[in-house]
Amino acid sequence: AAGGRMFLVANWKMNMTRDRIETYLDALERERLSSMLSGTRHQIALAPTHVYLQDLSREVLRRGLPVKIFAQDVSSRSEGAFTGEVSVRNVLDVGAVGSILGHSERRRYFQETDADVARKTSLCLQAGAIPLVCFGESREERDAGETLRVLRHQVAPIVEVVTKAFRENENIPVYLAYEPVWAIGSGKNASCSDIEEVISTVLEGFSWPVPPCILYGGSVNLENISSLAALENLAGLLVGSAWLDPETFLDSVRALS
Ligand code: PEP
Repeated sequence: AAGGRMFLVANWKMNMTRDRIETYLDALERERLSSMLSGTRHQIALAPTHVYLQDLSREVLRRGLPVKIFAQDVSSRSEGAFTGEVSVRNVLDVGAVGSILGHSERRRYFQETDADVARKTSLCLQAGAIPLVCFGESREERDAGETLRVLRHQVAPIVEVVTKAFRENENIPVYLAYEPVWAIGSGKNASCSDIEEVISTVLEGFSWPVPPCILYGGSVNLENISSLAALENLAGLLVGSAWLDPETFLDSVRALS
């Protein structure tokens, strides 16, 4: 938001390896020492696959990097006989502070429904993990003029679980990410006016007990980052491809400083 503090999240997806993570942290550490990173007002998070959460959390602490760790997903079950699943408690246990939820790749390739995403959101809120819930329309939906209807449909179940959780704890953090499916990894970002329209629809179209912080994601790069970040109501950016490279990530933070 126009000169304000942004939440910058790198979604590494299924891309990194131990070697590449080390190189990434080396690059961040060099910047910490040169103070650009330690002086930033922005909040930074890295989201590796589950297997790297623990090592990454430890390394970030050891190197004194001002970086939070997020999971890319958690199970919709809290615990028990669910072979292969990873719970909210598991990711918190190894140093993550929250999780991306309902990413369009999860919805599309792994058939996650709005109800699954709402359940995951509720489990995060109960456990004290920060939910970062993704929502967004497909190209066909946008072309058919269905964007706002689809988005309301995706967000409504989240409002419901947030409202329930708020009755028990008024300090719950709620983050959403508007990620149009057609903008992810395509090189085509949504326009500033589209993003503004979506943010105000989501903020004003529901009675939120606490207003959520809304991020944008979808082909953010060094060329468009400054104009996106200037959007008044935008709380941050969720970035895939561009931030697999630590130098581009650091250049982006620099561009927003
Ligand atoms: C994403 O998948 O969360 C994302 C924003 O990807 P990209 O930046 O590559 O479009």
